[in-house]
Amino acid sequence: MSEYATPSAELRARVALEKHRFRNTHSLGQNFLLSESLIDHLLDAAALSPEDCVLEIGPGAGLMTALLAGRCRRVLAVELDRGLEPVLQDVLEGCENVHVHFGDILKADISAMARSEFGSDGYRVVANLPYYITADILLKLTALEYPPASIAIMVQKEAAERIMSSPGEKQWCALAAELQYYGKPRVLAEVPAGAFDPPPHVDSRFICIDRHETPIVTPVDEQLFRRLMRAAFAMRRKTLANNLKAAFGLNQQAVKAVLEAAGLDPRVRGESLTHEELCRVADAIAAMA
Ligand code: SAM
Repeated sequence: MSEYATPSAELRARVALEKHRFRNTHSLGQNFLLSESLIDHLLDAAALSPEDCVLEIGPGAGLMTALLAGRCRRVLAVELDRGLEPVLQDVLEGCENVHVHFGDILKADISAMARSEFGSDGYRVVANLPYYITADILLKLTALEYPPASIAIMVQKEAAERIMSSPGEKQWCALAAELQYYGKPRVLAEVPAGAFDPPPHVDSRFICIDRHETPIVTPVDEQLFRRLMRAAFAMRRKTLANNLKAAFGLNQQAVKAVLEAAGLDPRVRGESLTHEELCRVADAIAAMA
């Protein structure tokens, strides 16, 4: 059979959206990618291999899902909007290695889902999601008991700049600290607003965070360390000492002892601290308990 006899995945997606008279829901951030060449470029940059199992979050019309199916071993796609079911059925017809699950990824037990779908071989995440849930989903994915080996995700340009920032920089924040504790972020591609249908009001970056093979720090109490990363940036103009008092209910003397044990200046600000320094503070708090 000639290669022209099979419609491209892009054509299938566009036809299915028309056929089922699908109307994008703005509140679900439904800005779709409907260019096969752009998605191929993004997936090339993500360097997925035929052995990879992929959790795709928010498949939308399923074009990226279909292209992932052609590149990877298995794909589990989690979509919130049931209205996309007939579209996804058409676009993914014949993709035997894809399983679509309808549900809210923010409420899902992702570790359990990934384990039952992929076993313990590991998996990667690929997502083009509404930007208002980006931070929540990234924090959830990076703190999972069964975490992905990497997360390739579309984010707003400004969010990419924050995630990529370093200690001491203006943009260094709790989100960057937590995500970089999980892995190393890098920008894979710049994606202009016009690449989406309909176009959003912002420019985007497709980024990948590769999980560290060896943890960059090993706090005694990981939950406390995560709490500390959030507390350190809670009130940006306050010193770390003030943030510690507020977040951990420590008195002046206890805070002084913690900072001394961590080898830090009592006037230090949380947003200037590296992971090593934050870890020393968390361990000093843990030692007091
Ligand atoms: N990945 C598709 C693409 O690139 O064309 C669709 C991207 S669109 C920006 C985001 C998709 O995420 C939509 O299909 C939307 O319905 C879905 N979505 C929104 N919130 C979700 C949630 N909490 N859980 C799962 N999917 C969600």
